[in-house]
Formats: sequence, C-alpha cells, structure tokens
Amino acid sequence: MTDPTATAATRWDGKLFRSGSWLPGLGTETLASQEKSTSRTLASQALATEADVDAAVTAATTAQPGWAAAGYDVRAGLLRRVARLLEDRADDYVDWLIRETGGIRGKAEYEVGAACNELYEAAALTSHATAEVLPSHNTGKLNLVQRVPVGVVAAITPWNFPLVLAMRVVAPAIALGNTVILKPAELTPVTGGFLLAELFADAGAPPDVLQVLTGLGPQAGEALVRHPGTTMIHFTGSSRVGQHIGSVAGGMLKKVSLELGGNNAFVVLDDANVEAASMVGAWSSFHYSGQACISASRHIVAASVADAYIAALAARAKGIVVGNPLDDGVNLGPMISETQRDRGLDLVKRSVDQGAELVEGGTFDRLFVRPTVLSGVTPEMPVYLEEVFAPVAPVIVVDSDEEALRLTNDSSYGLVHSVFTGDQARGLAFAEQVRAGMVHVNDTTCLDEAHVPFGGFGLSGSGGRAGGASNLDEFTERRWIGLQRTPVAYPY
Ligand code: NDP
Repeated sequence: MTDPTATAATRWDGKLFRSGSWLPGLGTETLASQEKSTSRTLASQALATEADVDAAVTAATTAQPGWAAAGYDVRAGLLRRVARLLEDRADDYVDWLIRETGGIRGKAEYEVGAACNELYEAAALTSHATAEVLPSHNTGKLNLVQRVPVGVVAAITPWNFPLVLAMRVVAPAIALGNTVILKPAELTPVTGGFLLAELFADAGAPPDVLQVLTGLGPQAGEALVRHPGTTMIHFTGSSRVGQHIGSVAGGMLKKVSLELGGNNAFVVLDDANVEAASMVGAWSSFHYSGQACISASRHIVAASVADAYIAALAARAKGIVVGNPLDDGVNLGPMISETQRDRGLDLVKRSVDQGAELVEGGTFDRLFVRPTVLSGVTPEMPVYLEEVFAPVAPVIVVDSDEEALRLTNDSSYGLVHSVFTGDQARGLAFAEQVRAGMVHVNDTTCLDEAHVPFGGFGLSGSGGRAGGASNLDEFTERRWIGLQRTPVAYPY
C-alpha cells in the first residue's frame, strides 16, 4: 500500500487556505498534527490569528453575493465534481484518516463514503423550491416567501469524524449560496480541513467560497464566533464549548446551530436475544473506542437477562484486537489523545471507587485502551452521569420496562438511544416515550444517514437538524416579499 502522507507535498504545511490558494498566515505559530498510533508528525498547521480571521471574513463577505447568484446548476455541478474527486482519491484519504484519527480502515472508509453522500445530497438541495406563494387576507396582495442564504457561515468542527462532520456543514451551506470559513479541530487539521480545501480547489470552486483556517479553539474559533461578519455559527463539539459559543453568538443575535454530545442508552429488555444484543451493544460502545457523540454510554439491562448479557459483552470485549489500525486484523486503534484517554479512565476509576465492578478491560498501553465492561453501575456514578467518550460499557440493571425508560430519559442530554427486544411493537412503544432526537429499535446507536434529520434534545443541541431537507432550514433565512397589486386605502 502506498503511503500518501510520506510523499505529501508541503503545499499546506504552515499555510492557511485563502483566496483559493495556500497562503502563509499573519502569525508565526504552528502546531504539528501527529499519526496517533506512532506520534510521527504528519503535517504542520498554521495557527490562525484574529487578523487572519478578519481577512477571511472580509473575503467571504465579498465573495458571497456572487456565489449566491450563480445558477443552481453551477452550485450543484461544483458539489458533484467534489464528490467524484473524493471517490477518485478515496484510497489516499482513507489512509490519511486512519493515521490522523487512529480509526480502523472500516471507519475511514465509512467516513469517505458518508462525505460523498453529503455532497450528493447537498447537490440535490440546490434545485429545491427557493420560494413559496402564501395566501393573503388583503385583496390584490402577493405574498412571496423566499429562501435566501444566511451569508457567511463559520463551521467549527471536532476531531472524531473530521471529514464527514466538516462536509456535513460545508456542502449544504455552499449548495445554498453561502460562503464558508472552516476551522477544524487542532488534532485533525488534515482530514478535517486541508483535504476539503484541496477537493474544492481542484474541483474549481471560486476563491473564498470555502476558506480553511486551522488554529486553536479559544483563539481562531473564538474570533470567528465573535466577528460581526460571520452571520451564522455552526458548531459541532462538546456541550461545554457549545454552551459558551451559544451564549456569545446568541448574545450577538447570530444564527447558531449546535450539534453537541450525548449520554446515550442501550436498553436490553427481558425478551431480547442476548447474543444479538451483546454484539450490537459492544459495537455501540467500542466502535472507534467510544469516541462518537452517538456511542452508547449506558447499557440499561433487564435483571432476568443481565448476567448472561454482561458475560456475553465481556467475552466480546476480550476478543477485540487493539493495535495499530494499519495492521491486519486490528479491530480498535489508539484513542485520539492522552487527555481523552485519561478522562475516560478516570471516570472508570472513580466509578469503581464507588462500588462498580470491573468485569473486563480497564488497562492501557500508550493510547491503546482495552475495551472495558463495568457492572453494578448505579445512577450516582460518574460513568452513568457523564458522556464517557472512551471504550467503556457501563451496565445498569433494572427490574422493569418502566425503570428502563425512566433511566433512559434520566439525562440532560437527548441525542440517541437504542432498545433491544424480541417484540417489535414493544420496542416501538418504548421508542415513542424516549426523549431524544433519534431512537433505534434492535440496532446500534451509531447510525447516521445523509438524508435523515440528525440531532438531539437538551444538552445535545440547539434544536436544528442536519441532513437532507432539514439543511434548507439550517442554511437559509426566509424573506417575505409582499407585492400589493391593487391600490390600498389606509385611514390617513
Ligand atoms: P470540543 O468542544 O473541545 O471542540 C470542538 C471544536 O471547537 C474544535 O474545533 C475546537 O478547537 C473548537 N473550540 C474549542 N474551544 C472553542 C472556543 N472557545 N470557541 C470556538 N471554538 C472552540 O469538542 P471535541 O473536539 O473534543 O469533540 C468531542 C465532542 O464533540 C464530544 O462531546 C462529542 O459528543 C461532540 N460531538 C457531537 C457530534 C454531534 O453531531 N452531535 C458529532 C461529533 C462530536 P480545538 O480543537 O483547537 O480545541
């Protein structure tokens, strides 16, 4: 296999993507991005300053009206060309993703495919109706309600699924006539930023329709949020940072969209097939080391099947091969950073101190953490209360469906839950009482489709949804134009 990272040109090292090309930033600081399995340096990212942000916003503001005026077919054509380029480059981009995120090949391939789907869905958005005519109680009045672009969208994105989570914002925003400034996470500047810049440039995007500013959240990210010229802030990341961004951008009365964390339940009812449930439960918690907003962080299991479920889950955890994701047969790569590893293991330790039993795992070597199963977990423990974001499956035993439902909903988050049962009607009835943006019966929590509304309640988001037609509401404003076609009379 070729290694695209070994021969990568230095085109983006220490540069920002502005005016359709790689330009030095106005500051001098840089930060390396590393291969997570080996700590080898993959790239050097420039750290954008407030002055870089200001220049990018000015350029995006200037470019936006022209891009919005481009025909729908021009915008759709760009997105389809980007998708085809991504398909052509899939092998190289998969390699970058494996190295920079530490995910296994299947995860990287999923990401590239999902990013293509986002592009094709976005291309289709361009030919949706751009206006509707509403009736009026005034004689002779034409009520035209148009959809217009929001303007300049600042997209701030996380490291876990960097390519698809950036594309999920960039593609529909650009499709609908906005210009975008993307700030990827500092841990994944290549796969969350540089590769997107390269794709759009090579597909012939006009300058400044997409700009990529690498940099630190509290500096470059914060400057984008606070700049008066960014008309919409789209943030995907932790609820803690999302709350801060919501208060700053909300205070400036900007359009804000927040896609945040979750504390998702995987519920096993007493009539479930335990083997099948343990397979899907293991995937839901251990896939990409549990570092997904939609990972299962609490397994809520009926008492009558709990012993069998815990044993089956532990056996599956024990069988998982952890190692360098470029090696054959590896199921799980390294975690993204020492900070994330230590945070996850600390939640485990503090829960064990409070009486949870460590059934499997709990150990690590560098960033490689063994899949971990905890039993005897109670609602007071840290692994129950917090989003885990590590390969940990905490099991809580319940005596009834009512208790399972109460615990499922016992969270300030509301992103996604799953319920496993042998009775589909029972599963549907359970799902209809769950307070979350997404619920799955007899399947994993880790699901996303480009055309389906994705998002959560409460601490999981601000109410908007990503995906398909929902993006029309996300990335456009409504404008009511009233045309009075007959003379009107007012009292004076
Ligand atoms: P963070 O919230 O730490 O960071 C997300 C992004 O925000 C990064 O680009 C970060 O930059 C930036 N940032 C940090 N501080 C600020 C600030 N003050 N102003 C502006 N931008 C800032 O999240 P993680 O990257 O750690 O991602 C993990 C979290 O994301 C989890 O909680 C997960 O649940 C959630 N998530 C939600 C998804 C959803 O769709 N609901 C999808 C994926 C993840 P930097 O990298 O420099 O810190």
